[in-house]
Amino acid sequence: MDKIKMTTPLVEMDGDEMTRILWKMIKDELLLPYIDLKTEYYDLGLEHRNETNDQVTVDSALATKKYKVAVKCATITPNAARMDEYDLKEMWKSPNGTIRAILDGTVFRAPIVVKGIEPCVKYWKKPITIARHAYGDVYKGSEMKIPGAGKVELVYTAEDGTQTKELVHEFDGPGIVQGMHNLNKSIASFARSCFSYALDTKQDLWFATKDTISKKYDHTFKDIFQEIYDAEFDEKFKEAGIEYFYTLIDDAVARVMKSGGGYIWACKNYDGDVMSDMVSSAFGSLAMMTSVLVSPEGYYEYEAAHGTVQRHYYKHLNGEETSTNSVATIFAWTGALRKRGELDGNQELMDFAGRLEKATIDTIEAGEMTKDLALITTIENPTVLNSEAFIRAVAKRL
Ligand code: NAP
Ligand code: MG
Repeated sequence: MDKIKMTTPLVEMDGDEMTRILWKMIKDELLLPYIDLKTEYYDLGLEHRNETNDQVTVDSALATKKYKVAVKCATITPNAARMDEYDLKEMWKSPNGTIRAILDGTVFRAPIVVKGIEPCVKYWKKPITIARHAYGDVYKGSEMKIPGAGKVELVYTAEDGTQTKELVHEFDGPGIVQGMHNLNKSIASFARSCFSYALDTKQDLWFATKDTISKKYDHTFKDIFQEIYDAEFDEKFKEAGIEYFYTLIDDAVARVMKSGGGYIWACKNYDGDVMSDMVSSAFGSLAMMTSVLVSPEGYYEYEAAHGTVQRHYYKHLNGEETSTNSVATIFAWTGALRKRGELDGNQELMDFAGRLEKATIDTIEAGEMTKDLALITTIENPTVLNSEAFIRAVAKRL
């Protein structure tokens, strides 16, 4: 059998710990036998990030701008314990943060839905994809404790020195105050990423804020989304048969719970932080959650939503058997291969991505799964496989 040819490389970002082990197994068992895989390889493993003073992370993001599609393995974000463990020169920043800053993208997280792993919310039949605005608001806020009576104002000083003031509150005793901001440019990028991704995946887009209360702050989000939609996306959405739907955040939350899924829910920074944890836990498992960073220019970086599964890695190093779920990492690869195929007009590559996803889902639905899923499945007497055996079982079906 001839291997599937690729015309343009993918950017491959290798990572750390247990997911690095899975990464190699996936390539060896599921990809290399079928595809003449072309990648530009960047080793984002912590040791190599440390050796290159994290330049490798920057280089991998720049390569993503060049080739437009990347696939990333989970990576360690260093903390104090990792400083000692890896004898680091510095506490390097989160690679995801660095990449996101360079690509100016929005992260879309979606569950992989299979029969036998049922969402807690019985109405949810299709995935709900959460898009979180990753800039500003309370995450870049400044705060003060107000010790006693006095006046708090917002003061804007323009470049020419003119000032505009707005009273926050006339305090008659101790209290607290918070100032936060966002940028029209960042909101516009977020909106474009959301509209583009909705078109790309042919799903409706929901967006919600509290614009009835926050008549300037949240209302600006609503207005920017609407302006960009009207000017750039209205016709394309109609052609694709999808809808852009704006509502109040409390209405959105209520509707989400009673919906059947199958749409993208764009959230402001805080809403996305909170709601993505609710949606992902209700769908069953972090190991079944994919993540894609989409830039407003149309660059895509695919990955699993979970981390490096450190605890399993230490077992692996001790020579113990692990049963680590590779599904989200497999789907990171299929997402990237499908997108590569789409951009290059390579139907064979797109079809392969579909077959690999189907083989993975069929394996679980046939009752063969890793331990994390076996604990929550409604399938009776599932077969619990170790990390490698699960990938082999997928390979057999493929
Ligand atoms: P984690 O790697 O997501 O794992 C947390 C726990 O969730 C695991 O111990 C395991 O539970 C379960 N789990 C997660 N993924 C699983 C899978 N594929 N199969 C089976 N079980 C799975 O989070 P963490 O332990 O908090 O973080 C470890 C490292 O990952 C940290 O250094 C962190 O910086 C990094 N991280 C990276 C990313 C990224 O690159 N995108 C994201 C998050 C975290 P049991 O142990 O109970 O089996
Ligand atoms: Mg959170």
